[in-house]
Amino acid sequence: MLADSHCHLDQFPDEDLPEIIGRAEEAGVAAMIVAGTTLESSRRCVALAERHPSLYAGVGAHPTDLESAFDDEAYARFRELALSSPKVVVVSETGLDYLETSPDRNLQDAAFRQQIRLARDIGLPVVFHSREAHEDVLKVLMEERVWEVGGIFHYFQGDQATAVAAIEMGLCISLARPLLRLPELQEVARKIPLGSIVLESDSFPQPFKKHRHNWTEPRHVAEVAERLAELRGIEVAEVMETTTANLREVTKGRLG
Ligand SMILES: [Zn+2]
Repeated sequence: MLADSHCHLDQFPDEDLPEIIGRAEEAGVAAMIVAGTTLESSRRCVALAERHPSLYAGVGAHPTDLESAFDDEAYARFRELALSSPKVVVVSETGLDYLETSPDRNLQDAAFRQQIRLARDIGLPVVFHSREAHEDVLKVLMEERVWEVGGIFHYFQGDQATAVAAIEMGLCISLARPLLRLPELQEVARKIPLGSIVLESDSFPQPFKKHRHNWTEPRHVAEVAERLAELRGIEVAEVMETTTANLREVTKGRLG
């Protein structure tokens, strides 16, 4: 069995979901964590997880979707939502994004820290995003003692030193389809311990791709697993088993 540690199935229309989930299950992906990006989308993630047995939910405020401060009221609302269902298994998606068009960095920093505190408060791990912000992300994780809550470095594309720094803080590294094409990432994926790796699709609707069958879906976690097995010279069964066990451990047994 495989698991998708991070996807955005909430962004697909309801009527597409049975087929997407069916294709995932056919490819061996038996559990998928649907990550929220706003309070609204987090609500939808929880509702979907309640409806579909193989779906689990993350609640969180994505750094690029922050419109206002993650204040006490936001904290209380996310907290209430997270505690409303046993299928909420992570605080996700949070982190830092330093593209020029992204929200103010102080706003992002405060929201990231608040969400790590929320994760600690409710006993869930944190799943975070880092774009052009690895140094500051690692600094926040260290200052907020992330090892006390556990978590996942989502859609990892950093270098070996960044991976090692995260792993030393007790975090997992989540690999996605970039593993199929980035030689530097393949090198990192060969060297870090398999016991610290989880897999994901990060799938969301991709209308910019000409053919619908090329859209990334949770089923593509299977090809990431195959590539990882090839790179490490081990059986794909070992990759499947270990990465799924890792995700179960990070989510403290809440995953099915
Ligand atoms: Zn995401």
